[in-house]
Amino acid sequence: MTKFVYALSEGNKDLKDLLGGKGANLAEMHNMGLPVPPSFTITTEACKAYLAEGAEPPEMAAQIDEHVEKIEQEIGKKLGDPNDPLLVSVRSGAKFSMPGMMETVLNIGLNDKSVEGLAAVTGNPRFAYDSYRRLLQMFGKTVLDIDGEKFESVLDEAKDAKGTKNDLDLDVDDLKKIVERFKAIIAEEHDTPFPQEPKEQLLEAVRAVFRSWNSERAVLYRRQERIPTDLGTAVNVCTMVFGNLGQTSGTGVAFTRDPASGHQGVYGDYLQNAQGEDVVAGIRNTMSLADMEGVDKAAYDELMGIMATLEGHYKDLCDIEFTVQDNKLWMLQTRVGKRTAEAAFKIACQLVDEGSISEAEALQRVNGDQLVQLMFPRFDESAPKEKIGKGMNASPGAAVGELCFNSPKAAELAAQGRKVILARRETNPDDLVGMIAAQGILTSRGGKTSHAAVVARGMGKTCVCGAEELLIDVNAETMTLPDGTVMKAGEVVSINGTTGDVFKGEVAVVDPPVVQYFEGTLSESEIEQDELVHAVHRLMTIADKQRALKVRANADTGEDALRARRFGAQGIGLCRTEHMFLGDRRPLVEKLILAETPQEKQAALDALAPKQKGDFVEILEAMDGLPVTIRLLDPPLHEFLPAQSELIAQHAMAQARGMDLKEDQKKIMAAVERMHEQNPMLGLRGVRLGLVIAGLFEMQAQAILEATAERKKAGGDPQPEIMIPLVAAVQELEIMKDAIRKVAVEVSEKTGVDLTQVPIGTMIELPRAAITAGEIAEAAEFFSFGTNDLTQTTWGFSRDDVEGSFFSNYIERGIFGVSPFETLDQGGVGKLVEIAAKSGRETRPGLHLGVCGEHGGDPASVHFFNAIGLDYVSCSPFRVPVARLEAGRASGTEEGSDFR
Ligand code: ADP
Ligand code: MG
Ligand code: MG
Repeated sequence: MTKFVYALSEGNKDLKDLLGGKGANLAEMHNMGLPVPPSFTITTEACKAYLAEGAEPPEMAAQIDEHVEKIEQEIGKKLGDPNDPLLVSVRSGAKFSMPGMMETVLNIGLNDKSVEGLAAVTGNPRFAYDSYRRLLQMFGKTVLDIDGEKFESVLDEAKDAKGTKNDLDLDVDDLKKIVERFKAIIAEEHDTPFPQEPKEQLLEAVRAVFRSWNSERAVLYRRQERIPTDLGTAVNVCTMVFGNLGQTSGTGVAFTRDPASGHQGVYGDYLQNAQGEDVVAGIRNTMSLADMEGVDKAAYDELMGIMATLEGHYKDLCDIEFTVQDNKLWMLQTRVGKRTAEAAFKIACQLVDEGSISEAEALQRVNGDQLVQLMFPRFDESAPKEKIGKGMNASPGAAVGELCFNSPKAAELAAQGRKVILARRETNPDDLVGMIAAQGILTSRGGKTSHAAVVARGMGKTCVCGAEELLIDVNAETMTLPDGTVMKAGEVVSINGTTGDVFKGEVAVVDPPVVQYFEGTLSESEIEQDELVHAVHRLMTIADKQRALKVRANADTGEDALRARRFGAQGIGLCRTEHMFLGDRRPLVEKLILAETPQEKQAALDALAPKQKGDFVEILEAMDGLPVTIRLLDPPLHEFLPAQSELIAQHAMAQARGMDLKEDQKKIMAAVERMHEQNPMLGLRGVRLGLVIAGLFEMQAQAILEATAERKKAGGDPQPEIMIPLVAAVQELEIMKDAIRKVAVEVSEKTGVDLTQVPIGTMIELPRAAITAGEIAEAAEFFSFGTNDLTQTTWGFSRDDVEGSFFSNYIERGIFGVSPFETLDQGGVGKLVEIAAKSGRETRPGLHLGVCGEHGGDPASVHFFNAIGLDYVSCSPFRVPVARLEAGRASGTEEGSDFR
């Protein structure tokens, strides 16, 4: 029989796959001897079975009963006992934290009878009915799918009737009436009344939590965070502890370090006489955690002790949920906490300095996505700006956009390419779509632990929250400034998530210090003094020391090459030559294409050659001493000619005026017609051009080799590599290679510099090339995987056509989790790369292997390329630091050495 239910003592923090993060960490805390209410966890396996079959595994219910009985014995109360009932919560908890995305139901076990019992044993009827109305509300919304607004509006009416905004002003009689109305809503909306039987409540709640794995917002969140869709959630059943018993009770959240800066201290919020999510929902103003010391010193001191214990145990920043019931502290949740990119780098180094982790472990605590965030522009301090408010610096960065007060609308505007700042009083999980779409998030309520802050930090999105002077009215779609000015939707604001400042209008941005560091403009002492830059420098140094994979850049100009070099590139993996045929050189290319005689053709080539040579001299000089892989012309030739539609229009216009096209225009038109292709990306391009247009690749090779000779004579150390694109068969490569070798001999003789050793290799970007790589390696002196084309040709779709049209459909249906153009499809395209790498090296031991597709700068893909033993990845200059960092992390064996 499969075991679907685990007691706390049977779990530990490493069982996240099975017990979810929450369940695994509750077990860990229990085993550490911390005060966790008696609980058990239903596995993700049960959830997966439920979602696949539409019903839970038959043995699950009995296993739940068994564990409920154990809790009943432990605490001496029974579920459903009308005199002194055991109450439990039913909570979701997946492997990866998805804050607020799934469901939780509190106070399971209350019914019309036991609510009276609870009132009697606690001597607190208000509390009993408050708990009951919460159960009805959560059960109605979560389990029975009733619109939550229906319940909220009853609560609001009751408060209005009392002339209050504070839920604490509702007395027991108000709450009794609310309970009756909630029951009526359920009976009306759901046909059957609220189930009075606690076991039924429990099972229904468990099923609802299973289903919440597939709720719209959970699906959206997973897509955004790249969390696999098939993990399922575990369900935690925990004995209720009550923060809503009066002023000696309360509930709170805490961080062991500041999740925004990484600094140690007391960070969190506490709310007296409250339950569950009251703290983060912003229904009442919370007190800061530090102030809790004044209201309950003993519980506060114990909490501080536990926080230190947890940090020591997890050796990382932890976040915590706790509840105090009548001055007794209970731990309800902990996890290694989400943090900003800046805090991640700082904390990793702080922990090394505190002696709690090694340098290699520190490297696993940061990742490339976080590094990217540190490289985003900042507001220019000297730029003119009009400050209109200040809130909490909840998630750093600089964001500029037009005000938008509504999440679906924000998504709509962003889809049109507009930049928006989502402004809300506070956010809730339904705002996720708007938060994803927005440049930044601005709220007028809530602190660093509010929903907006937590989710924005997780997404790495700029957020200022709790800017209380700004009156945000989402219904009127206005934001009123302290001086009375009213800003409307569409007006531009700039928000600084690093300081909490809010500005009217657009503020100019500049490079952040981390980019200045990579650019090499900071002095040693400047690096030393900036905690963040210093942390980045330390971790990059560790990564560089540790990694086997080299990192090159894709760069086509001397300028790009220089920047790549400053960013740490160890060469150029892809120097495209197509742009060298555009601009003022286009007429020469036209001449080449239109040439009717060999003489005309040669004349066109001779005119192009010196210009090409100039380009190569510049790049080889910028990358002196490092390899530069130059790809010969790749795109379809018609890309260098005017568009057919344009010519047809010109022709029609000329005819309308009773004229004809000029002679050369006619020629071009004929050529364009002749060269028209149905599927140009699968037509005359790459090596095929070199074979069909005699002299073209030879001219390019000659330009490269002459440039090399020139650099050598100037005392340089040029290291070009000539790369032939789109090869499918070894024969194609052999013919081109012979031709280029001949050119090399000629140029060597002419210049007196030996150029016959310049490597000639190929791209592997067609499935046939990958499959026959063993043969191709007989001619190729290196391989570079063009994973973009290889993805297109393996899947049989063109990126330009599919990404915008049906990819979201495919991702929604789980055909793939992320676009295979962003992260390499390891099972398909990756297999081809692996086959080619292996058979290439069987033919030619030590064959040099690289990647020059965009995947070279994608963290998950970098880890894959490292694992299959490639020599280098090449990516855009700006991504070079990311690839260096991830290559370092990939070579680690520590826990967490995956790309997350
Ligand atoms: P989430 O995953 O969204 O954090 P939780 O399962 O942690 O959801 O629960 C929602 C809220 O209810 C949290 O504030 C949590 O602390 C509280 N809660 C959950 N279980 C209990 C319990 N047994 N007793 C008291 N409060 C609880
Ligand atoms: Mg929680
Ligand atoms: Mg290609």
